[in-house]
Amino acid sequence: MNNQDIETILSGIIHPDLKQNIVSLGIVEQISVTDDKIRLTLNFPRAKDPFANSIKRTSEHAIREKYPEFGGDIIVLIKEAAPKKIEQSAPATTTGKIKNIIAVSSGKGGVGKSTVTSNLAVTLAEKGIKTAILDADIYGPSIPKMFGLEDYKPLAEKTEEGSDVIIPAESHGIKIMSIGFFIDPEDALVWRGAMATNALRQLIHQTEWGEIDVLLIDMPPGTGDIHLTIVHELKITGAAIVTTPQQIALADVVRGIKMFRSEGIDVPVLGIVENMSWFTPAELPENKYYIFGRNGGRDLADKTGLPLLAQIPLIQSVSENSDNGKPTSSVYTATLADNIISRL
Ligand code: ADP
Repeated sequence: MNNQDIETILSGIIHPDLKQNIVSLGIVEQISVTDDKIRLTLNFPRAKDPFANSIKRTSEHAIREKYPEFGGDIIVLIKEAAPKKIEQSAPATTTGKIKNIIAVSSGKGGVGKSTVTSNLAVTLAEKGIKTAILDADIYGPSIPKMFGLEDYKPLAEKTEEGSDVIIPAESHGIKIMSIGFFIDPEDALVWRGAMATNALRQLIHQTEWGEIDVLLIDMPPGTGDIHLTIVHELKITGAAIVTTPQQIALADVVRGIKMFRSEGIDVPVLGIVENMSWFTPAELPENKYYIFGRNGGRDLADKTGLPLLAQIPLIQSVSENSDNGKPTSSVYTATLADNIISRL
């Protein structure tokens, strides 16, 4: 195996956005092959290229697949242009007639981000606000299940101008589009990375939302390629960060807040939502049990100088309803909705 062999493999990898292979784009800057090491330098012409990590993984994967007998290291160094260039190239636009876009994010999975998104959407819709959800959580797109839309197959239509649009589902008066309508959860992660980013870009630009006051985006947990894609493709009004009160969950939240606030991303963080704040059993309605610790979200809000948008207790019916495709509003989601609206 020599440099030429590696270059041939890499020339089969297409940059999903620039639509050319990474060799002819000049992204492959250097290849060095020894008996026990392959080093690649990938130099991306734009800063924070949202596809950099998935291209890195795909490169490693393609080489291993072609040379399964090679047991050495594959080291891929990513270089990128100075951040100044993003501002020139970022196509951040608000999609059509959507007035506000709110990213609902979390540091970890399982904190109730999708449940909060669904119940908040229902609350907003009940107030007469035109609401939509874009479920971008590639690791667990649960919005279809929460609205009983598992079998929805999005239709594509042609507009009068001849462009293709995708028709969102509708439930509780909420327009809903999910990456889960397109991606089989069983599919391999490696393949899913690039595939998911492409599908998501298509959903962002081709969904026929109509007039919308608030679009909620159910983000994947943590920070990664999908977050960068979304903030580059859409003008996000603000982010709401969902956490449970546990200390362990909080470090990841801080990382998420930093990402939204970082240079070149600059998404305002509207505040923190503390979910599963306490548990009140039906037979002891006055009692509050702080099973995940007390006020972790409030403390974090104080520490980061962000507003605490709501504290939402663990409620058995919340979990049952979202399992049964029936999201519901409560006094807690009403507070959350009011606090978000007042910040738009
Ligand atoms: P995430 O989107 O952060 O991965 P989910 O919204 O899927 O998390 O929630 C994880 C689980 O916790 C689900 O079973 C959901 O029904 C349950 N859950 C979330 N929030 C609450 C709550 N406030 N009360 C009761 N159950 C909740």
